[in-house]
Amino acid sequence: MQNKSHQSCWISDSFFFKPNKIITILLLVCIFGLIQSKGISQAKWALTTGKLPMIDYGIGEDRLGGAKMGFIDTAVWVQVLDSSKGMYKIQLSSQRQAWMAKSFIKWTDKKEPNLPTLSGSWTVKGGTQGRDSMWIRLDERVPYRSWMEIQPNRIIIEVFGAQSNTNWITQLSSSKAIAHVDYVQTATDVLQITIHLKHTAHWGYSLGYKGKSLLLLVNEPPASKKLRGLKIAVDAGHGGSNTGARGTQSGILEKDYTLLFAKALEKELKRYGAEVIMVRSADTAIDNKDRVLWLQQQGPQVLISLHLNSASRPQVKGVSTYYKHIGFRPISQAILKEMLTLGLNEFGNIGHFNFMLNAPTDFVNTLVEIAFLSNPEDEARIQEAKFHKETSVKIRKGIEQFLKQEVTTKK
Ligand SMILES: [Zn+2]
Repeated sequence: MQNKSHQSCWISDSFFFKPNKIITILLLVCIFGLIQSKGISQAKWALTTGKLPMIDYGIGEDRLGGAKMGFIDTAVWVQVLDSSKGMYKIQLSSQRQAWMAKSFIKWTDKKEPNLPTLSGSWTVKGGTQGRDSMWIRLDERVPYRSWMEIQPNRIIIEVFGAQSNTNWITQLSSSKAIAHVDYVQTATDVLQITIHLKHTAHWGYSLGYKGKSLLLLVNEPPASKKLRGLKIAVDAGHGGSNTGARGTQSGILEKDYTLLFAKALEKELKRYGAEVIMVRSADTAIDNKDRVLWLQQQGPQVLISLHLNSASRPQVKGVSTYYKHIGFRPISQAILKEMLTLGLNEFGNIGHFNFMLNAPTDFVNTLVEIAFLSNPEDEARIQEAKFHKETSVKIRKGIEQFLKQEVTTKK
């Protein structure tokens, strides 16, 4: 048998049949080279830090930044492999990598984590604040990601660097949102947990560490299908020095008109008994991350973010609604459907949108781009007080339609 060593590191069948010293040395060099090329020997341990740290899928960029895997807590262990374009490549588990902005990484002298961490017993129970809780006991603060699924409604959590030693999941009848919980060890160091939900809509969840345990809080649906008592946050886009888009004919600023639309919506929702909180009520600049942090403290059940669109081509016009998490699509569709009855062009229902206020999973949220400031017809309507009132009625009706469709609790 010929030695075809030029073809690959795994030289040869000949190694197995005719062992000799040269081939053994070559093979060792190859293996060493492979380990080096994976960068394992150069990896450094670090902890997450900063304001709302996020994990990205890759180093791609667009207007709103690269595609996000999701938020992650601070003081979580990550193994840093490499860097590019202001980002660090991190190892989530033996087979999975991701990227994080350098500002979210803090080098540490702490003793590196003992991995894989073993999961302990879990407890699922109802809460007093309208949220079910689930404690996932771990020995180290390892990275995780989560997402929503629909039909059936589920929350999935992947815990990286974790191995199951969970032989006991207590599920108390007090839980109102979580039907049951199970898991699969999808890789030697990836624990995938599925939270099966009782209700027919996603009402949001929060996930983060308390000490070394992951705590999942799942929102219960509201008790009624009415707007009365529903806590709704209204977010007027831009503000202060952040002026947003500009009307091409009139020169009006997006920040001024999003506030007028927001105030009209506040009035309309209050008229129907909703509890409305306004992200801004004046011409103030608020960073989008600060908006999210404030909203997470306030705990609304629904967030409606209002913006006005702009395109380079003046022909482009119409209304669009946006979501990131699939579980929040229904409200965005219901609002779009109502808005289209105003005779606006359909610009679309946009998913996986990379907008900071669509990123939280903590409450139902959607962005409404009411119309285009760059289209003469839309721009004229945007300036009419009548249109502000009409828009607020349609958004209110959209929220009501969403409540009607979705707030049916399964047994
Ligand atoms: Zn905007």
